[in-house]
Amino acid sequence: MDMFIRVDQYNFIKAQTQYLLNGYGTTNDIRVLDALKSLTQEKIINLFPQINEEQSELLKPIINVRDQASAEIFLQQVKPYVIPFRTVEQQAIKKLFPKVKKLKVPSLEKVELQETSYLAWDDTGTNKRYIILHYDNKIKGFQGTFKISYKQGVCSLCNRHGQVGLFSIEKKGSTQDSYINRGNYICEDSRKCNQQITSQEKLFEFFESLGR
Ligand SMILES: [Zn+2]
Repeated sequence: MDMFIRVDQYNFIKAQTQYLLNGYGTTNDIRVLDALKSLTQEKIINLFPQINEEQSELLKPIINVRDQASAEIFLQQVKPYVIPFRTVEQQAIKKLFPKVKKLKVPSLEKVELQETSYLAWDDTGTNKRYIILHYDNKIKGFQGTFKISYKQGVCSLCNRHGQVGLFSIEKKGSTQDSYINRGNYICEDSRKCNQQITSQEKLFEFFESLGR
């Protein structure tokens, strides 16, 4: 069986597994738990409109999750089918940011690709954050200033509450020499943010809004 689960879908499955565990932690009512189990199973199967028999057999056992140990076993069986972030040559990354003279591209070796929906790194010297991601079968790069806000807020990428900073991009405006600033709060910690992204749509919406 080929890899068929996107990173954000895997995060969704992980989150559902956790909800199920929370259910076991809060009630002993068999009927409530049965309902929760079938709802959870339905939700993760519904993530894949084109699901085939084999894929469905891989995901259905979420119904057997009842404690930490069984949750780990389930997730371990699913993880090999997660499509890793497609690696990009350093040279191709540099091409995405042609105006940046000395781009410091991080080594991808240390990146957990099966936990990455977007790749981000900071150049602390210039307060810049660089972000690359794949969409529409293309690789896109975004650069903006990143200001740590020292406060909690909702991240525009993962939609979760946490330590955020302001990521803003300067775009050319409609008239010559005019610029508009587009900014949004996003997680300070991109690695954690990636682990919290349970929907690719939200992520794409954000970058589409910056791209125009
Ligand atoms: Zn986030």
